[in-house]
Amino acid sequence: MKGNHAFCPKTGASLSNTTHYDERGRGFHTPVPDRFAEEPDTGDLTLGARCSSTTALLTHFRRCHDREKDATPGGDLQSRAALALRRLKRASDGVNAWDMVVWLTLVERLDRCGHEVGWMRGHVELRCPDCYGHLQYRTLAGGTPIARCGTHCTEAPRDRLHQIRTLVADLYRRTFDPDTDLSADDVAHP
Ligand SMILES: [Zn+2]
Repeated sequence: MKGNHAFCPKTGASLSNTTHYDERGRGFHTPVPDRFAEEPDTGDLTLGARCSSTTALLTHFRRCHDREKDATPGGDLQSRAALALRRLKRASDGVNAWDMVVWLTLVERLDRCGHEVGWMRGHVELRCPDCYGHLQYRTLAGGTPIARCGTHCTEAPRDRLHQIRTLVADLYRRTFDPDTDLSADDVAHP
């Protein structure tokens, strides 16, 4: 992932607060190993990626789970998450393979398996599925949140939250249950 929840796309290590600049003036961070992520290759610099490895996503899951005091304890959730993540990564491609979509589909899966995983929604940054731009949020009368792309990358404005929920429903069906009629409206609001 990039942005506020950025981590090393190979190992899932957290990133340093210090910014290093390359010869073109672009800023990067160094992965910092901890008890969840092994020592990264020397000299790795990254800003995170929109699509990370299975290992990196699992590390992110374990670290976030550990931080959540109210999260359900026990290895059952961890092993179920690891299994589901591997299946999701195998089944996904294109925009479906972005961390944001994989992560939210994992939330949907674990939730439907009876785990309390609402906390996971606080550990992902939502971006525009067309251009990976930042989103601008507003709330409709009636309380429904919607999000537009901050760069207005498509001519007609679209609710990007609905678009993300559609991607999640697609990936869920493709990975876990091709026969389900799960649609965007069934997917919890991200
Ligand atoms: Zn966009």
